[in-house]
Amino acid sequence: MRTINLPSGNSMPAFGLGTWRMGEHRDQCRRDADVIRAALDLGVRLLDTAEMYGEGGAEEVIGEAIQGRRDGLFLVSKLYPHNASRNGVIEACERSLRRLNCDTIDLYLLHWPGSVPPTQTFDAFHELQDSGKIVDFGVSNFNLCDLEGIPEPDQARLGCNQVFYNLAHREVEWEVAAWCRQRAIPVMAYSPLDQASALLRESALTVVAERHAASAAQIALAWLLHQPNIVVIPKSVRPQRIEENLAALDIELSAEDLAELDSAYPAPTQAVRLGMR
Ligand code: NAP
Repeated sequence: MRTINLPSGNSMPAFGLGTWRMGEHRDQCRRDADVIRAALDLGVRLLDTAEMYGEGGAEEVIGEAIQGRRDGLFLVSKLYPHNASRNGVIEACERSLRRLNCDTIDLYLLHWPGSVPPTQTFDAFHELQDSGKIVDFGVSNFNLCDLEGIPEPDQARLGCNQVFYNLAHREVEWEVAAWCRQRAIPVMAYSPLDQASALLRESALTVVAERHAASAAQIALAWLLHQPNIVVIPKSVRPQRIEENLAALDIELSAEDLAELDSAYPAPTQAVRLGMR
């Protein structure tokens, strides 16, 4: 599995499985745990979740699926902004760890910016690191003004900024991606398939896909993975699709492919805020 370096010197897989909408319904939890086990069997080593997903249900499903196979996995979870006070972060993390049924979260993120002063949140992140409950910390859905509000020494230590990013939504490229690149902070692209929207049926993408005997989803992922310091976390509850998505790691896009995609899905040319899902 290709890996990406974090500013801490640790590394994480460039491909992970998203788990939004998993663990939401009791009658689907067994299926969701089976999907995660199948993903691990296929070689997936990063799982992305949040206390928000299924109000803890997705973390519980992961906790069940990874029993006996935690070693070598990279777990990402996120806390609600309304839990971002110093004590709130510690308590939210401990609840997540209980649901995940493990001792450590590899990368713990603030899900989106809120109203709690960032110093409180980052002090709590340091305390969690000192006690070994998290390894790295980071943020999600942070625009440039939010990133600049992070206490200075912590700006350069962010394990990632997880943002809405796919061919049809390139807002991050306006200024956030460059800010991260200057500090070697990974960008983690969420909804990399644009939630299976019309994007996957558009001819600009399917023409390139045909050239590679690949699917549109694979090309959408390969386009993101072509860039340095990017992690993708597509979600699927179908092992066959997870296998298909993983194979995007092996697709090399040509200069012609990249130029065609760039012209069909141009980067922003004026100031724009990050989209959010
Ligand atoms: P996504 O990964 O872009 O798309 C998921 C959708 O695509 C599902 O409907 C899935 O259906 C379908 N799909 C998956 N593989 C496919 C393929 N090869 N061909 C066709 N359709 C395919 O959207 P997402 O779930 O919003 O984003 C991924 C993860 O990012 C989430 O699960 C979550 O972990 C994270 N996320 C974070 C935030 C944040 O605020 N930080 C926001 C949104 C998402 P099936 O399941 O039926 O295969």
